[in-house]
Amino acid sequence: MKLFNTMVSVLALSVATAGFGGGAAHAQDKGAVGIAMPTKSSARWIADGDNIVKQLKAHGYTTDLQYADDDIPNQLSQVENMVTKGDKVLVIASIDGTTLSDVLKQAAARGVKIIAYDRLIRGTPNVDYYATFDNFKVGVLQAQSLVDGLGLASGKGPFNIELFGGSPDDNNAYFFYNGALSVLKPYLDSGKLVVRSGQMGMDKVSTLRWDGATAQARMDNILSAYYTDKHLDAVLSPYDGISIGIISSLKGVGYGSGDTKMALVSGQDCEIPSIKAIIAGEQFSSIFKDTRLLAKVTVDMVDAMMSGKPVVTNDTTSYNNGVKVVPSYLLKPVVVEKNNVDDVLVKSGYYTQAQLN
Ligand code: BGC
Repeated sequence: MKLFNTMVSVLALSVATAGFGGGAAHAQDKGAVGIAMPTKSSARWIADGDNIVKQLKAHGYTTDLQYADDDIPNQLSQVENMVTKGDKVLVIASIDGTTLSDVLKQAAARGVKIIAYDRLIRGTPNVDYYATFDNFKVGVLQAQSLVDGLGLASGKGPFNIELFGGSPDDNNAYFFYNGALSVLKPYLDSGKLVVRSGQMGMDKVSTLRWDGATAQARMDNILSAYYTDKHLDAVLSPYDGISIGIISSLKGVGYGSGDTKMALVSGQDCEIPSIKAIIAGEQFSSIFKDTRLLAKVTVDMVDAMMSGKPVVTNDTTSYNNGVKVVPSYLLKPVVVEKNNVDDVLVKSGYYTQAQLN
């Protein structure tokens, strides 16, 4: 852990001094890198794409950034195109982590290197490295913020909680859920936390494509079936877009007004609408994943592979993709609540104060 922290600080320092790739572009063309992102419907992926392009260009690479509108065939043909065009490295944040095996086989046969970006690509030997955050830790932090907010450790309770998971085709969703459950389980076992719907386990709580409207509809159903005469105290939500759907549903039946306290709702990605909701007291927490640092790790991997240098990783055990353990670099996620928005998001320069007003 100490080593991990040191590596992260060194990394943070080098990102800061590099100005996130804002320095003078190198004259030489080191080749083309294809970047396949899932969707523009969530601001984080836009930031990821922009940060990777900026930093790759500063290192002398040309870039080919594509977004797939969360459509699997669309992403597949974008990646096929990148291989055909002769891109030397592919950086892929997959929509469904299991659908790319054939095209990656073709890519590997041509000597193309593959980096799984944030989401693990599963079921293929043809993925060289994985750049991500500590996804289990994300879930731990989400649940811990709810546990702290409810005051469970100081003996308060019992409280009612409902659980939401991410997309079942995204490997991360299971890490988030398992991380969260590792914190919630003792309280569920002792009866200090109660899931009145009984809906637990990723097979019951997942949300296809991380869709906020799907989550809102599920929350509506749960509230009308189990909470007409009970108060829901907390909701485990894996992602800000899902949290927004959950909060709309809660507000629709009067939570957050009159005597009905808003339930504590977690989240992830620190998207601007959710940070505003945290400041307004509607969402309880989110998780900050600094996309500037993830881009930096990824660009360092690209550059090392392309120049035949050793690639830096800090985890070679956690991410088995069904065929092999993919060497990974895990960054540290940070929990954000009302009291540290300024420190974590504004002082770090990730957002300006004006963006959050
Ligand atoms: C990412 C999260 C994001 C989610 C929905 C996951 O794979 O790790 O940061 O909230 O996808 O886009």
